[in-house]
Amino acid sequence: MQKNLQLLGELQRIDLKLDGLQGEKEAMLAEIVALEAKVAGAQAAIAVKNEEFAALEAERTTLDENLVTETENITRSEARLKEIKTQKEYQAVSKEISTAKKLTTELEEQILQKGAQAEELQAEIASQQENLQALEQNIAAQKGEVEERISGLDSGMVKDMATREAIVKGLPVSVVRRYARVREQRRGLAVVEAKDGSCLGCNMNLPPQLYNMLFRGDELITCPHCQRMLVLSPEIANG
Ligand SMILES: [Zn+2]
Repeated sequence: MQKNLQLLGELQRIDLKLDGLQGEKEAMLAEIVALEAKVAGAQAAIAVKNEEFAALEAERTTLDENLVTETENITRSEARLKEIKTQKEYQAVSKEISTAKKLTTELEEQILQKGAQAEELQAEIASQQENLQALEQNIAAQKGEVEERISGLDSGMVKDMATREAIVKGLPVSVVRRYARVREQRRGLAVVEAKDGSCLGCNMNLPPQLYNMLFRGDELITCPHCQRMLVLSPEIANG
């Protein structure tokens, strides 16, 4: 049983180490997700600007078409003016022409304005695209670095898993099962030290009789309060 207790302590140590490495790995994977989100965010911002640009161009096309129509109307009205006989009709058509001319001036102004806006937007898009390229390069490098760290972590974990496997083989199956169950119920910590009459897992006092049994080391003792498996703290066990 002494040997089993020692192996249990080792198993717990290596499992905690593996838990820590797994946590590190998950944090790194989250880092990669965050880096990818940055690129996606920049791409989405450009997509929005491209849509704005397309809308602006569509508005400009409509204004262009309106300008063509108004210009044609003016040409037609001016031709009619020559054939008009009455003063009243002449005045009415003249008024139509001047209204249409005013409208074409407004349309021309609007077209110029939209053109300027489109140009400005295009420059913005170009600069954002340039930034995106730089960001993509930067992030690809960062991602590569993180991936390298993950693969280093993975190979370390493979070694630890092999060590763990060897420890498990040295323990009775029933003890390993019990260990796994307690570990699941007690957030990863199934084996704890006992010191000065207390369980260091839950800090409760152990019955003196139980504590004394630990010194004999011929039985697997569990804490009556937290059900964790108890081992003696090494300085007591060895000293
Ligand atoms: Zn306890």
